Amino acid sequence: MAENRKQIAVSGIQASGNLHIGNYIGAIKQFVELQDKYNMFVFVADLHAITVPQDPKKLGAQTLDAVYTYLACGLDPKKTTIFIQSHVPQHTELGWILNTITPLGELERMTQFKDKTKDQTSILAGLLNYPTLMAADILLYNPIAVPVGEDQVQHLELTRTLARKFNSRFGETFKEPKALIQKDGARIMALDDPIKKMSKSGNANNFIGLLDSEAEIRRKIKIAVTDSGKEIKYDPATKPAISNLLIIYSQMAGLDIKEIEKKYVGKSYSEFKADLAEVVLRALKPIQEKYNKFAKDKKSVLQILRDGAAEARKVAETTMEGVRAKVGFLEALQ
Ligand code: ATP
Ligand code: MG
Repeated sequence: MAENRKQIAVSGIQASGNLHIGNYIGAIKQFVELQDKYNMFVFVADLHAITVPQDPKKLGAQTLDAVYTYLACGLDPKKTTIFIQSHVPQHTELGWILNTITPLGELERMTQFKDKTKDQTSILAGLLNYPTLMAADILLYNPIAVPVGEDQVQHLELTRTLARKFNSRFGETFKEPKALIQKDGARIMALDDPIKKMSKSGNANNFIGLLDSEAEIRRKIKIAVTDSGKEIKYDPATKPAISNLLIIYSQMAGLDIKEIEKKYVGKSYSEFKADLAEVVLRALKPIQEKYNKFAKDKKSVLQILRDGAAEARKVAETTMEGVRAKVGFLEALQ
C-alpha cells in the first residue's frame, strides 16, 4: 500500500493541562500540515504528564481534552494514528532499556530538567528520566521526523545520541530522527514574562488556552506585559514582549510581521492589543466549535483511540521484538 511507503513522523503533547496557543503554533499546526505527507503517529503523553504531580481525578479528562483538541485543530484519524501513550506499554519498556545506556550527566544537564526543578527541594526521578522516555516514544516508531517546538530540540538531540549508542552497542536498530521546527513561532513566550516560554504548567495568565473563553482571552491579552517605549516593532532583543505579541498576531492572522508593523505605525499598545484579541478570538472560534462537537461524541473518539492504540502497539511491538533479542533477553515463554 502506498500509505505504508510514506516516511514516518511522530510527536506528542503532555496531558498536563489546557493546551495553549504555543502548543498550537509550535506543534499542532505542523502535525496537521504534515499528515498528508507523512505517516504520522501523534499521541497524548500521560506518562510524561505525571512527572509533575497530577490530580488522579482530572488526569483522564485532561487526556481526553487533548484528544478533542487535536481533532478540533484538524488532525484526521484517517491519516494520523492518534493514541494515548500509556495505552502502548512498549513506551515504558523501551524507556527503561534506554535508561540503562544513558549517562546520568546527560540527563542532569537538560534545560527542561533544570527549569522544572529550579524551585523544588525534593526532585523526583521521573523528571530526570523524562528524556529517556521521550527517546523511547520516538524510536519505537523509527520516524524520520519529529515536529516539535524549539524547547524540545535538546531532548531530540539526546534521542539521536541514544539511537547511536544503542546501535553501536547492540547493532543497527534505530534511525536517527530529525527535529522539524517551525520557522516562526517555534517558541512562543509567556504573556506575563516574555523571557520564559509559554507553558501549560505555569500560571494561568502566562498562556492563552485554546479553550479559554472570550472574556478570558481579552483579559489575558490586556494585562500581558509590554516593553518600554511605544512603538509596535519586532526586535526580540530590546522588545521581547511586543515581539512575542507580534509573532502571535502573525501566526494567528496569517500575516507577515512587516505588514503588521506597518499597520500599527503611530498606534498605541492598547489599540494593538485590542486588535490582537480579535485576531486570536477569530482563529480560535472554529477550533472551539469543533472541540464542542467532538466532546459531545465521546464514544466515537474513544473508538479512534482504541484503533490508534492497536495500530501503534503493532508497530511498537515489532520494534520491541528486535530490541529484546538484541539486548539478549530470554525469549518470552508461551
Ligand atoms: P508543560 O508546561 O507541562 O511542559 P508545555 O506547554 O511545555 O507543557 P508540552 O506538552 O511539554 O507543553 O509540549 C508539547 C509540544 O508543544 C512540544 O512539541 C513543545 O515543544 C511545544 N511547545 C510547548 N510550549 C511551546 C511554546 N511556548 N511555543 C512553541 N511550542 C511549544
Ligand atoms: Mg513542556
